[in-house]
Amino acid sequence: MTRIGFIGVGNMGGPMARNLIDAGHEVTAFDLSPMALDATVAAGATAATSAADAASGVEVVITMLPAGQHVRGVYLDDGGILGAAAAGTLFIDSSTIDVDSARAVAKAAGEAGFEMLDAPVSGGVGGAEAGTLTFMCGGSEDAFARAKPLLDVMGKTIVLAGPSGNGQAAKICNNMILGASMIAVSEAFVMAEKLGLDHQKLFDISSTASGQCWAMTSYCPVPGPVPASPANRDYQAGFTAAMMAKDLRLAQEAAQSVRAATPLGAAAAAVYSLFENAGNGEVDFSGVIRMIRGEK
Ligand code: NAD
Repeated sequence: MTRIGFIGVGNMGGPMARNLIDAGHEVTAFDLSPMALDATVAAGATAATSAADAASGVEVVITMLPAGQHVRGVYLDDGGILGAAAAGTLFIDSSTIDVDSARAVAKAAGEAGFEMLDAPVSGGVGGAEAGTLTFMCGGSEDAFARAKPLLDVMGKTIVLAGPSGNGQAAKICNNMILGASMIAVSEAFVMAEKLGLDHQKLFDISSTASGQCWAMTSYCPVPGPVPASPANRDYQAGFTAAMMAKDLRLAQEAAQSVRAATPLGAAAAAVYSLFENAGNGEVDFSGVIRMIRGEK
């Protein structure tokens, strides 16, 4: 049994914390949203009165917050969790944030004598609930070894990608591939429609030919060929277009900071910003095919 402080128990953090509780760990939770906190307390957590309160007297602190500014605030502000934790506490940040913030917070944790892992996830709310998330980790081998038994409770694939920030780097590289490939697959299906080529025929050919990719074979943006894909339930998310737009913006920030040429990543970021700004933020990201088709 490990004593864990869990800060940010929203759509992802809530089920992650519940899986830790179900595995026999003692979880003290904090969230600015009383509704999110109450749901986690109902699942067996103890309520903390602040982030610092959740981080004191525990062995491991896990944060699952919206963006870099929230993570910097919770860790680094006056009254932040680095000042409240006991010596030897391990910090794991599973939020998806910019690489610079991840490295800045890990550096501050290191200077305060703590080990820290950035450990963003993929797999969405379904993966969080089922305990099948993929964790992409950045930090030391030692921090990874300490975190692994807990990450194993919440996930299925746990990878150390290198030093601090590399978990976030892996996450945005992956999602840049995903965003660009979903747009490419969507363009191909819409062009097929105009050329009189049946969706299923294109799928049967491309899914076993050189156009094969995850956006085609696991998350097909037209209904029919992949029955589990959101296209079959009116693009109910899944992974929202707003989340994809966020990750593509993070990828562009990172690309600019290291002068990486990512013209397709930039185009994908622009397409998803347009889609989000047209009121589709909560739609599944594969719904972008509707905009490509010229629908609303
Ligand atoms: P969410 O908005 O449901 O949850 C975030 C929670 O953090 C909220 O309950 C909010 O009240 C709380 N919070 C914000 N600031 C806080 C603070 N200062 N102190 C305490 N609590 C605070 O978001 P989510 O969907 O759970 O996503 C969390 C992170 O996971 C994000 O970085 C997101 O990009 C990433 N992510 C989400 C998904 C997904 O499918 N939802 C998938 C992969 C990664």
